[in-house]
Order: sequence, then C-alpha cells, then structure tokens
Amino acid sequence: MSLKIYNPSNNELIKEIPTDNSETLAHKYELLKNGVQEFQKTSVRDRILMMSKFSDLLRKNKEHLARVLSDEMGKPYSEALGEVKGAAVKIQFFLQESEKYLTKKKVNHDGGTEEFISYEPLGIIANISAWNYPYLVGVNIFVPALICGNGVFYKPSEYSTLTGIEIEKLLFQAGFPPEVFKLAIGGAEVGEELLNMPLDGYFFTGSYKTGKHIATKVAPKLVPVGLELGGKDPLYVTNKVSSIKDVAASAVSGAFYNNGQSCCSVERIYVHDEVYDEFLEEFLKEVENLKVGNPFDKNITQGAISRKEHLSFLEEQVSDALSKGAKLETGGKVISGPGNFFEPTVFTNVNHEMRIMTEETFGPIIGIQRVTNDDEALVHMNDTDYGLTASVFTSEKGRAEKLMKKLDAGTCYLNCCDRVSGYTPWAGRKNSGLGATLSFHGLYVFTKTKAWHFRQNM
Ligand code: NAD
Repeated sequence: MSLKIYNPSNNELIKEIPTDNSETLAHKYELLKNGVQEFQKTSVRDRILMMSKFSDLLRKNKEHLARVLSDEMGKPYSEALGEVKGAAVKIQFFLQESEKYLTKKKVNHDGGTEEFISYEPLGIIANISAWNYPYLVGVNIFVPALICGNGVFYKPSEYSTLTGIEIEKLLFQAGFPPEVFKLAIGGAEVGEELLNMPLDGYFFTGSYKTGKHIATKVAPKLVPVGLELGGKDPLYVTNKVSSIKDVAASAVSGAFYNNGQSCCSVERIYVHDEVYDEFLEEFLKEVENLKVGNPFDKNITQGAISRKEHLSFLEEQVSDALSKGAKLETGGKVISGPGNFFEPTVFTNVNHEMRIMTEETFGPIIGIQRVTNDDEALVHMNDTDYGLTASVFTSEKGRAEKLMKKLDAGTCYLNCCDRVSGYTPWAGRKNSGLGATLSFHGLYVFTKTKAWHFRQNM
C-alpha cells in the first residue's frame, strides 16, 4: 500500500510513499522495545542535551522545513517559518525545567522513615498527530515523552507525513537512537493498527470523533490516554476597550490565521451592543486586507485549505447559515481551482441555531453576534460542547477576571487570543480533550510515579 501526498495549492502529486502495515509495525515495535531499555539508562540531562540539539537543528533548517510544510499542507511560507521557529521556542520550557521536575524528591520524613517520589517513563507511547501545526502539536507530545525516557511511535497525519519524516531525520541527527523513535506512515488504518498494539500510552491530537474512538478502544488496556481535540472558541469584545481597531485586528488574526485551521482559532465573536457597529466596520476593513493565494507568494496572507473534502463542509456551513437568516457580509464561496481555496467569510445576524456558531468550522468562516451585557455574552460563550480556549477583550481587568472565572475553558485570554505557551498547561475541557500537555503537567503525563519509603536502622 502507498500514500499519495498532494499539494493542496495546486492538487499536484508531490510524492507517493509506502505505508506501514501490521508486519512492518510489529517489526518497529520490537526495535522500540529493545531500544527503550538502553535509552532508559541515559540521564535526563543527556536527553535534554539531545533535545537541545534538535531545537538548534529546527532553527538551522527552518527554510527547508518550512518549504516542505507549505508544500504539503498549504499554509503561507511565512507562517510555516513562524511555526518551525515557534516550535524551537516552545521546546525551551522542557530544556530548562525538565531536570528539576523529573528528579527524585524527598517529600516527607515520618519518624525513622524517609519518603520520596520518583518519576519513571511509561515505556513506548503512541503519538497520533494532526496536520494543521505538525511541529507545534508534535512537540507537545514527542519532546517531553523522549525527555522522560519513553520510546515513541509517531504517526504523522496523512496530510503532513513529509514533515513527520523531516522530524525523524532531525531527531536522529540530534543524537536520539533510531530505536527510540519510529514513524507509523499511513492514514486511519495505520492509526487503528497502533490501537491494537500493546503500547504503554496513547496521546492523540485530532478531531473529537477520532479521539473518542481512540479513548474507547484503548480503555481496556488501562494505560494513560491524552486527547487534544477540537474547539469552538469564543471571543467577547466588551464596551470598554481602548482601541476598537486593535481589537478588530487581533480578532481577525485569531479567526483567519492558518485559514482558521487551528484548534484554538477564534470560531465565534460576541460584541457588546455599544461598540458593535464600530467593531464590525473595523473588522471588515481588516478582512479586506486578507489575500488568498499561492503560499509562496509574499503578498498573500491565506494559503490553501489542506483537505480538499473540507471545501464542501465549509459550503454546507455557509448554506445552513444563509437558510436560517444570517447576513453574509463578505466571502462565502470556494475560489475556483486548481488548488483548494476558500474566501475569508464573515456572517452577522447569527445565532446558536446555526452550525457556524456551534460546530467546529476549522476554516476561514466567522460569525459575529451582538450582545447587550456580560451575562448574555457569558451564556453564549459557555453554550458549547467544547472548552478549549476563550478570550475577553476589555480595558477593565477586574471585569475580565470575573468572566474568566466563569468560563468553562482550559485556557482563558485577556486582550489576546490564539496563543499557546510552553509554560502553561494546554488542556481542553468537555469535547476539547482529556488531560494536559505543556508545562510541568505535560511532563508528568509521560511518567509513572513511584513512592519510596526508606526506613533506617533495622
Ligand atoms: P483526525 O481526527 O481526522 O486525524 C488525526 C489523526 O488521527 C491522523 O493522524 C489520522 O490519520 C488519525 N486517525 C484517524 N482515524 C483513526 C483511527 N480510527 N484510529 C487511529 N488513528 C486515526 O483530525 P485532523 O483532521 O488531523 O485534525 C483536525 C482536528 O484536530 C480539529 O478538530 C482540530 O481542532 C484538532 N486539533 C486539536 C489540537 C489541540 O491541541 N487541542 C491541535 C491541533 C488540532
């Protein structure tokens, strides 16, 4: 079997590569099993040094890596460069802090007995990944997993496999032994094979539908499962902001960066009645500046939609909104090919009966709804099956904090949106995920604890 990799900007075949199957995966698993035993004899410091080299290699090879990524996934070259550089920055947390958190700690002294906690690697974990930010979402998993001493079966998405191959090359160049990181190449069927294997943890980035399937299927194994899933992230503009123009620019970036194909893209906007008209005017002006086209053209801001079949999904959301009375302010159509392009699209007069306000769009479409006060905004913001991120824009910090406490989302932003840091946990609530990555929480998920009770003088 083989995987055909197409360029979404022109739908030309880039490459055809062989996929894995149960035999090749079983062979890789045996190699991982042996490799991991040796790997676990290395110190955390050694593994941090290797990861530091990997981070340097990302920076050194950024132009090449960004070209590969733009080609297979369709994002603007400048954004691909930003992603590779961003991944190197995100790794910093793990380089700086892992040793501190993974060192065995004395936690109590009870009479003659000393008590310690240590952290041991899980073993061999699956990292089943998504295509929209293969570097940024990958480093949430394989970076801490390797630093903790695990072997990793990395399944890149079928839409970002060439990037997965580049990641593997750089990890080996950085000094990680080939026996501790193995690629599983292919689509859903190859991911499914991994679920049948006796792995020690499953860490998944992707859709709610697949995440739920994975969690259900591997549940009887009683091994850790981490899920980073979709979102329907709201942004609220209060009536007290210092610059509506700046807020509009930030909201447009949050909604349309990477063509809206981000788990934490702004997916719906609520605006206080008192500033609604001004905000809409500024927002539409910003949207007019978006230019769709070839990812390597320096003048464009929007590249291709990565998956061809997603174009009809976006069209369905548009027709649903129109049929229920939404007002199309701009966009709304597929741009005729050869590649997969969609116009940046803005709807007003929207409500929660419409799919664009409740179902993850994962594309360049946004709905803007008018609200009259904070309580109404809060009800709408929490009216979702998802709970990844939520943003409040206001110059009144206390007011924002009151709202943020009541928002049922793993990440809350004040006067910003669509951002991730290595230092804070990344944890979706409800259908947005299970468990956390990044920060020290995102280290410990790749370990099992051991309690030590040392009684002296027997
Ligand atoms: P997807 O669920 O279609 O696929 C994700 C991965 O799962 C791919 O590698 C795919 O081959 C594999 N897969 C598919 N079916 C499988 C099965 N039955 N068994 C095992 N593996 C299987 O998702 P996608 O289209 O790649 O990604 C888009 C989704 O990911 C969006 O919902 C987005 O919000 C979400 N996402 C979330 C985060 C986050 O951090 N929360 C980050 C990026 C993307």
